[in-house]
Amino acid sequence: MNWRVEVAVQTPAHSALGDVLSYASPVPVAPGALVRVPLGRREVLGVVWSAQPAGAQDDAAAPMELKPIGAALDALPPLGAGWRDLVAFAARYYQRSLGEIALAALPPQLRDLSAVQLARRLKRQAAPAAAAAAPCGPPLTPEQAHALARFDAESGPFLLFGSTGSGKTEVYLQAVAALLEREPEAQALVMVPEINLTPQLEARFKDRFGSAAVVSLHSGMTNPQRLASWLAAHGRAARIVLGTRMAVFASMPALKLIVVDEEHDPSYKQQEGARYSARDLAVWRGRREGAKVMLGSATPSLESWHQSRPAGGEDGGGRYVRLAMPSRIGTAALPTVRLVDMGLQPPRTVLSGALLDAIGQRVARGEQSMVFLNRRGYAPVLACGDCDWKSECPHCSAFRVFHKIDRTLRCHHCGFTERVPRACPACGNPDIAPVGRGTERLEEHLGELFAEVKRPDGSPVRIARIDADSTRRQGALESQLAAVHAGEVDVLVGTQMIAKGHDFRRITLVAAANPDGALFSSDFRAPERLFSLLMQSAGRAGRDAAYLSAQGATAEMWIQTHHPQHALFAALRRHDYPTFAQRELEERAAAGMPPYAFQALLRADARTQEAAQGFLNAASAAAEGLEGAQHVTRYSAVPHAIQRVANVERAQLLVESASRAALQRLLAAWQPLLHGLRKQPEGKGVIRWLLDVDPHSI
Ligand code: ADP
Ligand code: ZN
Ligand code: ZN
Repeated sequence: MNWRVEVAVQTPAHSALGDVLSYASPVPVAPGALVRVPLGRREVLGVVWSAQPAGAQDDAAAPMELKPIGAALDALPPLGAGWRDLVAFAARYYQRSLGEIALAALPPQLRDLSAVQLARRLKRQAAPAAAAAAPCGPPLTPEQAHALARFDAESGPFLLFGSTGSGKTEVYLQAVAALLEREPEAQALVMVPEINLTPQLEARFKDRFGSAAVVSLHSGMTNPQRLASWLAAHGRAARIVLGTRMAVFASMPALKLIVVDEEHDPSYKQQEGARYSARDLAVWRGRREGAKVMLGSATPSLESWHQSRPAGGEDGGGRYVRLAMPSRIGTAALPTVRLVDMGLQPPRTVLSGALLDAIGQRVARGEQSMVFLNRRGYAPVLACGDCDWKSECPHCSAFRVFHKIDRTLRCHHCGFTERVPRACPACGNPDIAPVGRGTERLEEHLGELFAEVKRPDGSPVRIARIDADSTRRQGALESQLAAVHAGEVDVLVGTQMIAKGHDFRRITLVAAANPDGALFSSDFRAPERLFSLLMQSAGRAGRDAAYLSAQGATAEMWIQTHHPQHALFAALRRHDYPTFAQRELEERAAAGMPPYAFQALLRADARTQEAAQGFLNAASAAAEGLEGAQHVTRYSAVPHAIQRVANVERAQLLVESASRAALQRLLAAWQPLLHGLRKQPEGKGVIRWLLDVDPHSI
């Protein structure tokens, strides 16, 4: 036994164990190799980080009393240096342990397979797939051709700023095709925000490159499927990996191109465990591995937009190359945006008369409409008319939502569910009523309003709803979307699930029933998210120019608002993202907020709010004098926006700096103190704490 091997294993997130554990081995083991190692009483999977002859440098103090490593999964080529660097960077940047990130990046099934089983799996694995010969798409538009030419000529990273329906996907396809034509062995990673968008995109890629060349990676897959995709990517059999945020960690030894579609989408930020941004890691990984990176969006994140501003301005920019595709494919114009001033409507109007007329006309012509409302369930609150009882959740600082379908009150935070009471639990009044409106109620309301409206063939109108409730069952979303595509639905009601990405061909009207909430939110990113959601939604209307002109129809986006004069809507009317972004960036610059500052949140959960805040404020005091601290502002602890969930009190503390490096230095020095503080009196009552670097909502 004469080798000392450092192995990354999954240790509990906040254990005091170091980043890697040391083991002994009689033979050298390659960095990146997968091995089984003893940990406590178990044997676990680990990734070898380094190996050196024992006693080479130090080790008089630790004569080899190290435990020996177990079996190596040596049928598998070791994970490459690029992959290990990515994992190490992510662990450092997001303040997590190396082992946690490394093991989370591997397919779960790998942990359970023996070396023999794995070798058998690998034998069955297909040989490297050649991409289908001569994949050809449509002739490019001049805008697409120009974007691709610059993509080819420059090194990037690129921001493809293309309107909805401008043919961004076609640009991705042809960029991949060009790469594979040049380098048949190369691999490309194409990331999308959500699973529900992948079937359509997957079909387009498989169509173009042959199904053997393309694999998917997302959390909706079974463990055996994930393992098969992962092995195909790691073993170079797959040319193209299509996946959600987790795919950024896929092992791809010949990676040459990374696409991040809808790069602004919040779902690229992992919201639990290691809170990484897959988009930001993609950019880092591209630079590390010499792969070109293309971020695409009709409404880029302000961070990416800022980076793609011409260099030379005093406030930065210039790191990304901006490629603009303002026009939609074909003759289809972007939809006309109509604002309905809800202040001029009769009280308690849900859908204005003009909007109902417009939808009714479309039903009569056989076209489809879509109405979205970002609130599922029947009504957000149930209330008593006599006393002040409301359907509060006993475990959270939130109301339980009324779901009429199964007559339940459900808490959307902790899941606590009860049958709707027959009478007010406080005063016995039988007259308790829903307040406000969710998608379920909107669907019911539309059914009543359109009871008399007929389709072209005289049959009644067909209304459908798509949201998290309607799609709970496996395969439900696919079949509901298929029904819309097949023209079996006239009016589709839903949450933002239906607003993103789908290439609906027969929808000519999209309406946002009540988007005002986000205008005056305390979250500084709310306007950015609203603007992009409304632009995305508008992008669902009138995607097919041929269909529009055959129908003699125009595409329309309706917005019902109490604030029709708001600048956000003015920019939206003109489909003018640059003006919106300019104004937002000026405000952010003036207020010293991202992208002009870098932030991290320290969060604590405890039995009482005092305990949570006490821990945070003690942590803040402990940061005084640490490296980087003089360049970092530390705010006071405050309750989380939803202060209590499942009887746990939540609080947070914001730290912020104009210098990313200073913030990173502080976090690195702070982390060990936080572990220590947890064991002090100040940590008493704290259930858990975590750091969220570059948080998305504050
Ligand atoms: P985006 O991703 O920008 O929303 P898509 O790539 O989905 O846009 O393109 C919108 C539609 O236009 C798709 O149906 C696509 O097949 C079609 N399309 C894209 N590029 C071209 C082209 N150069 N010629 C003809 N049709 C195209
Ligand atoms: Zn009552
Ligand atoms: Zn609850």
